[in-house]
Amino acid sequence: MRDVTAEIVAVGTEILLGEITDTNSVFLARALRDMGINVYYMTTVGDNRRRIAEAIRLALSRADVVITCGGLGPTVDDMTRDGVADATDRSLAFQQHLLDQITARFAAMKAQMTVNNRQQAYVPEGAVIIENPVGTAPCFIVEQGDKCVLSLPGVPREMKYLFTERIVPYLRERYGLGGAVIRARVLKAAGIGESMLDDMLGKELLNAGNPSIGLAAHSGQIDIRITAKAESDAAADAMIDVMEEKVRVRVGRYIYGTDGASLAQAVQDALSAVHLQLRVVEIGVPSLISDHNGPLTQYDSVDAAAAILGMDVSAGLRQFAEGVAARMALPGEAVVVMVSRAHTQVDAADAAERSALAVHCGDTTRARAYGFAGDSEEARQFMPTWGLSFLWRMLRDLAEADHAG
Ligand code: ATP
Ligand code: MG
Repeated sequence: MRDVTAEIVAVGTEILLGEITDTNSVFLARALRDMGINVYYMTTVGDNRRRIAEAIRLALSRADVVITCGGLGPTVDDMTRDGVADATDRSLAFQQHLLDQITARFAAMKAQMTVNNRQQAYVPEGAVIIENPVGTAPCFIVEQGDKCVLSLPGVPREMKYLFTERIVPYLRERYGLGGAVIRARVLKAAGIGESMLDDMLGKELLNAGNPSIGLAAHSGQIDIRITAKAESDAAADAMIDVMEEKVRVRVGRYIYGTDGASLAQAVQDALSAVHLQLRVVEIGVPSLISDHNGPLTQYDSVDAAAAILGMDVSAGLRQFAEGVAARMALPGEAVVVMVSRAHTQVDAADAAERSALAVHCGDTTRARAYGFAGDSEEARQFMPTWGLSFLWRMLRDLAEADHAG
């Protein structure tokens, strides 16, 4: 199978100013991946003729296919046609039939056409014109030897339509792609840190080419993505099956699901399997685990909880959390305790223990302290997922012990 590479150049100052999100590049990257085309670079450039040309020239130097989106409209800041013409050493040529189409479209919509709309009838010399039945901006393809520049409009609806209906068949035909596909499957792991998982998988698997493996850690859970490239979906899936088996042999105990599986649901299932329900105790933190179906106990602050429970905090937050978890667990319950002091309530001396997490399940309690404060973004992100991650692992151990005993 031939290796084809593509590069995406998104045009628009709005993107660079953070005013809009570049969803077009996301769409294009996925669509190209699904066709088996490699993407190594994506660029964003503002509405500036020289910089657009520069970005396209650079992209053409390292990819077979360059896809631009945006900047094809009728206004003076729509510079993509000029940029493509400059980058491919062509001039712009007026196309009467394009102008006729644009005129007809405006007439059909009973809209007033402006002089500017005339600009859309210009394309780089020798370009292949792709008509746009869903908007006014035509798109075009400039072929440079074996390479090409494809220019699509910025409006997502038009871009997607033209890409899917016109560009995909063009690319398949021109680059002999046949049915080349890239398929991916994500194995979701929890209860283990990234570096440990990395060690257990080993270099041989992590450096494999096709299928390849990539890890992405999200506080307390890790995605193991297996990607395969083949002639058909079935062939790619079969390759992924083989790799999945190898991964499961090494780290299967830590995998709680595939693709869309959620850790919260996996925990819920594991709780049901051992007939436990989850009590969440939140002390000095906002509601973090909100969607569990079990009791929730909340205290405004560490000091309030300590006073009500008659417990001592002097040994630090980790021990405190551990004590609360063991003490509050009723029969038939697993407990996750999240404790935090706000940033302002902490002395520099105990800054290492601004927050703590404890999980109690069966006869065991696990606890950990963190340096972030309860009102921080980290507390929101890490504590619930680490809490669920610990709990999931303890439930698994409990189920295994049940099974063995
Ligand atoms: P138009 O004829 O509407 O001017 P155009 O091809 O010139 O189309 P732009 O002017 O660059 O496209 O963008 C039109 C609109 O499309 C933007 O205001 C924005 O809402 C959306 N858009 C542009 N680029 C992107 C992108 N990369 N991702 C998502 N939306 C985009
Ligand atoms: Mg525009």
